This record gives sequence, structure tokens and C-alpha cells, in this order.
Amino acid sequence: MASCFGKIVVGTYVEIKRSDGRIHQAMVTSLNEDNESVTVEWIENGDTKGKEIDLESIFALNADLAPEEEMAPSPDTPPPPTPSSVKINKIAKNRRTIAPSKIEAPSRDNRVVTTRARAAQPPQPEPAPAPPPPAQQPAQPTPAQTAQQLQNARRKSNCVKEVEKLQEKRERRRIQQQELREKRAQEVDTTIPNYEIMYMIRDFRASLDYRPLTAADLIEEHRICVCVRKRPLNKKELTMKDLDVITIPSKDVVMVHEPKQKVDLTRFLENQTFRFDYTFDDSTTNEMVYRFTARPLVETIFERGMATCFAYGQTGSGKTHTMGGDFSGKNQDCAKGVYALAARDVFVMLKKPNHKKLDLQVYATFFEIYSGKVFDLLNHKTKLRVLEDGKQQVQVVGLQEKDVKCTEDVLKLIEIGNSCRTSGQTSANAHSSRSHAVFQIILRRKGKMHGKFSLIDLAGNERGADTSSADRQTRLEGAEINKSLLALKECIRALGLNKPHTPFRASKLTQVLRDSFIGENSRTCMIATISPGMTSCENTLNTLRYANRVKELSVDANQVMEGVRPNIHVVNQMELLDEDWLSSSPQRDDLKLLCEQNGEEMSPQLYNFHEAVSQMGEMEEQVLEDHRAVFQESIRWLEDEKVLLEMTEEVDYDVDTYATQLEQILDQKIDILTELRDKVKSFRSALQDEEQASKQINPKRPRAV
Ligand code: ADP
Ligand code: MG
Repeated sequence: MASCFGKIVVGTYVEIKRSDGRIHQAMVTSLNEDNESVTVEWIENGDTKGKEIDLESIFALNADLAPEEEMAPSPDTPPPPTPSSVKINKIAKNRRTIAPSKIEAPSRDNRVVTTRARAAQPPQPEPAPAPPPPAQQPAQPTPAQTAQQLQNARRKSNCVKEVEKLQEKRERRRIQQQELREKRAQEVDTTIPNYEIMYMIRDFRASLDYRPLTAADLIEEHRICVCVRKRPLNKKELTMKDLDVITIPSKDVVMVHEPKQKVDLTRFLENQTFRFDYTFDDSTTNEMVYRFTARPLVETIFERGMATCFAYGQTGSGKTHTMGGDFSGKNQDCAKGVYALAARDVFVMLKKPNHKKLDLQVYATFFEIYSGKVFDLLNHKTKLRVLEDGKQQVQVVGLQEKDVKCTEDVLKLIEIGNSCRTSGQTSANAHSSRSHAVFQIILRRKGKMHGKFSLIDLAGNERGADTSSADRQTRLEGAEINKSLLALKECIRALGLNKPHTPFRASKLTQVLRDSFIGENSRTCMIATISPGMTSCENTLNTLRYANRVKELSVDANQVMEGVRPNIHVVNQMELLDEDWLSSSPQRDDLKLLCEQNGEEMSPQLYNFHEAVSQMGEMEEQVLEDHRAVFQESIRWLEDEKVLLEMTEEVDYDVDTYATQLEQILDQKIDILTELRDKVKSFRSALQDEEQASKQINPKRPRAV
């Protein structure tokens, strides 16, 4: 009865249909005559799976394997397969696997697998089944055989009809499938690089139940809020036919479809899922992002609190668009950025009766931190000094605080600041990718600080990896960015956990924002902006990992916060700590702390480099300060020398006085200049140390922070 298996033998590859509708190939491992079925096996996610399938289902999908005719075996029918014929069959059947099959739907573990064969060519219509092998020339039957055949034919006539019906059905289905495949093949735009990845993502998305954030969603109270915003593909990415590999299926989940390749070159998608407080998809407006992020913080500053809102991400991911406002061509509509929206609500809140009686004044500042230096964007980029007084109050000396009476006033300041920030730049991103912009709205009551809202457009996080650049300027910028973003993360975590010490001195950014991190009534929000393109995948994952770490701990922090206030003992301890640290080098101690907290991202070599940079920075400051002093002194010397020389023009001048005074001046000059020269020498050796240390950093580019 072996003929009921048609051309199927052990080792044949057949197409099978799964209960979820998927069709894929499997190998026949046994023929079960008792119930006219076959057992098939296939590999899925590394596991071997098996199933018994009745012959009818098999032939429905594998018409070319069905028996030629439903006849009893003639003596000339080839004998059942011997091991060697099985082998030949296997080889022949293996060729079938080359035929492209349709892209598979996602399996349960969220990975979509495709084969190398498919990666090499677009889906094509299934090739026509191979013609049946030439029929064997039957030998002349004996009369007994003929009688037997006739009898069989009669017995089988009903069966034949059934089979014919089945064959018809099969044929119809085959045509339908072929049409579907052809249609699909036409849809494929093979000019798109990675088109098969695109199909995998498309199939994956089709299986999702989308529930994005809506304006009706509840705005939750968070002390630390971390969210993600995806921007749409831009013109350049669309021209390059970059793929959108980010999916935001719900109000707090973001998925990255990362294309990966196995050792055997099989391509598959690794779907990485992250959860945040909110996730905004590419259709979300600035107003909506604002509503869930910065708006809840406006209230904080009226309650004598400190608020910070950061835009963090890779250059070009939408930080400035979010904070500063929508771009239409080259012009930015400041009114639609988070800075302006927050200012608008501050003035709305100010008019409320309970706030009105507080008699608060509103001020704004706008400055930039570039390579550890502060520049006033409302005062022609004047370089400002950051000082810490005896009470550990950090002051940006000379920072312009502009009095603002309405949203319009604020908009004007933002415009001034923005144009000041980008003036002389070839592109808006050239400079801003390397600097942090800080816009602050300050509430004062009778001159005393009541509350402060700092909104920060951070430097591009990919710049943190520039520490091994051959160019010193780039390297130093990179070091400062790397350090400041790590310090920022630690400060936010410390805020969430009410830690007694925050490493705010490790970077200028955190130093300047110190009061916002230590305040009891402080709240913060981070908007991680991400680019959707496949080309940005690595940076996007780095951004998401960073944002995830910020919030990871803050979950515990929320529990800590509930009803728990920092006690007096902790506060005292902090003061003691701070005093100790002031006597050594606070910057370097905080750097050390930062290194300990971020062992994974900061190798000992990178730490040494940061130390060398910070030492170099301290030396630079000293040299500049001394040089300025020497310069001032030189003017005085010149005047003194002029008087001395004039004296010598008198007929009877006092030679003794002249000689004594000149010697005094020269001694002074030599002392002071020698001191300056020694400092310059040390400074130069610090520069060399920095260069050496930068070369020790792992040649593998450090990950962006
Ligand atoms: P970053 O400040 O992070 O370097 P930008 O804010 O300058 O990035 O954005 C880069 C480009 O992308 C700009 O042209 C901007 O208009 C555009 N863009 C950013 N986010 C969005 C968005 N959500 N919707 C539309 N365009 C956006
Ligand atoms: Mg920007």
C-alpha cells in the first residue's frame, strides 16, 4: 500500500500548514501506513518540533508529490526506497528549499526569522512543480494481472472520483496561492535596501494591537518622569530609503526592531522592548508631549520647588524641535516649543488668586554650557564664571536674569538666545550638538528665590564617545559631554533615592543645576528623543538604555519618597561630607564617585583620562588667572619704570635710589614671571598627560552615554 504516499519518502521536504495559518517546510521522518499519515519534523527557534499530518492535507499543499494515479502497485512499480534511494531523494528534495517562500509571521518569542535564501532574492512566484518523471514503460501484463487490475479499477472507481475532486480543489488552491504570491512579488520594491527586513517589521506590526497615548489619558504624578519621543523619518532618511525600525504600540512601550545576522548569515529581527512613563509616537505634537512632561512641573515652582526638564538624545533626534519649537524650513516657531509652552502656563498660573497674593516676579535666563564653560546667550555669549560660596551655593557670576511680564517677552528672549547660540555656525546642529542649552524660568518673591524651572536641550549624546579623537578640542568636548551626561544620570538617581550626596561637582552642567537636585521639593522629567531610522539603531538603543537606567532606580525611589522625608541626621552628614571634600579637590572626588557608580561605562583608562582632563582644566584656570594678574602688574611696572627713567633725565638724580628701585622692580618681575613660567610648564606637561591618557582609552570607541 506504499503507493498512497505518492512521491513521499522518508527525507522528503513538504510544505505544511500550521494551526495559526503559517505555511513552512518540514521533513518527513516516517510514513504511517495504518492511518495514511506522515510524521514531519522541522526546526523552530533552535528546537526540533514534530507533528503527524494526514496525507490529504499534505497533498493539498504539495500537489506535485501526490500519487500519479490511484492504482494498485504494478509489479514494475519501483521497490520501496532503500537507504541509497532515500539519500538521492533527500538531495532532490533539498533543492525545494531554495524556492522562496513567504515571509513568516512572528513566532512567540518575538523574533522573526528569515532565511539566507530569501535574503538574497525577492519573493517570486513559486516555480511550477517539476514535471513528473517519465513513466516507466510497463511490461506486457499477464491475463491474471489484467483481471486483477480490472477488479481493482472497479473497486477504486469511487475513490478515483474522490481523488479527482481533491485534485481539482488542490489545483484551485494552488492557483490562488500563486496569484497571491505574484501579487506580493509585485508589491515588493526591491530598490529598498533591506526590503526583507521591512517586510518582517510590517508583518510584525500587523499583529499588534495599537493603543497609543491620547489626550484623555491620565497625567500621573511623578517625582522623576522618563519618557521617549520618536520623530518621523526626515527627508534625508526617506531619500536614502532608510527603514523605520521603531514601533510605539502603546502609551508607555517602545520597541526597537534591530536587524541581526546569525553566524550562518540568517537574518532575523531582534525586537527589544522598553517601558517608560510615557512613549510618544511620530504623530505626537509638541503640545501633547508638553502636556505629559513639563506641564505638571509648572505647579512645582509655584509650590517653592525646583523643576528640571531635559531633552536627551542623539543629534538630529528632535531635542531642539521639542524644547525650542517646530521648524518650518529654516525658521523655528518658538511658540510651539516646551520653553514657551511652560512660560505661557507660568503666566496663566500667576493669575490664579492663590498665586496672585504671593506677588511673584518672573525672570528668565538662557545660557549655554560648552566644553565645561558657561556662556550667556542673552548677553552676546559672554563667558561666565561659576563659583561656589562657603554655603555651597553655586553662582553663575554675572548671568543676566531678564524681567519678563508675559509670554511675548519670553518668546523674544528665546529668539535672541537661539540666534546668539547658532550665530556664525554653518549649521544649527554643528555647535548645538556639542553644547547644552539651559533656559530657566525663575520666580522671585521680594527678590528671594521662590521656585525655578530649568529646561535643558542637552548636547548630542553620541558626542560623549569623542574622547578618543585625535583632535584635542574634540576630545575635551567629548570628555565634558561624557562626564556631564553620566553625572546627570547619577544626580537624578540620587534625587530619586534621597541620597546624601550627589556627584554634582563632577561636571559644570550638574554643578550649575545643583540646587535643583538637592531640593526637597524637586521634580524632574527627561524626554529621550529618538530617530526612527535603521541607520540610527545603535544610538537609539544607547539612548533608551540610558533613559532606562535613570528610571530603573527611580521606581524604588518613588517608594522611598512616599511619606519619607530626609531626616536631620542625613542632612548633617551631607554637610560634613561637603566640608571634607572642599579641602581636597571636590571636582575630582565627585569624578571618582561617578566612576565607581558607572564602572560599566567608565573603564579605568577613561577615568584616568577624565582625571587628566580635569587636572589640565584646573591648571588652565590657574595659568589664565596668573597671566591676567601679571598683565595688570606689567602695566604698573611700566609706569614705575617710566617714572624712574624720567628721574634719570634730571642733572642731579639720585643714582642710589635709581639702582635700588630698578633692582626691586626687576626682582619682582623675575619672581612673578618665573612663577608664571613654572605654571605654564606644569600646564604643558598636563596637556601632554591628557594626550597620553587619551591614547590609553580602549581603541574600541566607548559607547555613547
Ligand atoms: P536635535 O536638536 O536633537 O539635534 P532637531 O530638533 O534639530 O534635533 O531635529 C532634527 C530635524 O528633525 C529638524 O529638521 C526637525 O525639524 C526635525 N524634527 C525633529 N523632531 C520632529 C518631529 N517630532 N516632527 C517633525 N520633525 C521633527
Ligand atoms: Mg539641537
